[in-house]
Amino acid sequence: MDCIFCKIVNGEIPSSKVYEDDKVYAFNDINPQSDRHILVIPKEHICCANRIDETNSSLVAHIFEVIPKIAAQEGLEFYRIINNCGEKAGQTVMHLHFHILSGENLGERLV
Ligand code: AMP
Ligand code: ZN
Repeated sequence: MDCIFCKIVNGEIPSSKVYEDDKVYAFNDINPQSDRHILVIPKEHICCANRIDETNSSLVAHIFEVIPKIAAQEGLEFYRIINNCGEKAGQTVMHLHFHILSGENLGERLV
């Protein structure tokens, strides 16, 4: 499948790894929007939040169990989690991912 995040998971495209286990991969965003900008993805290809269902929601639960571990590991005391679902919401990579944004330059505005 021609998916850049699947290629990152299988090592075809290099990335700056932050965390990995059997189900999840996390890496630094190549174009950070704040002091720290980490992407957390399931290793399994799921296109977007709109495809979360009873067969794969445990993966999403797992991602949200992993996020505090990443925060602790990286020393992030505060952060924002963002998911863009659909091109018109700003989703440019069609592999489910959660942005973790942190740093003193983080504004209060959501949009
Ligand atoms: P979104 O706009 O929500 O789909 O987010 C996609 C994110 O992936 C953007 O913040 C990009 O900067 C990031 N991105 C795209 N390609 C790479 C890459 N090869 N390594 C790391 N981050 C990437
Ligand atoms: Zn993929």
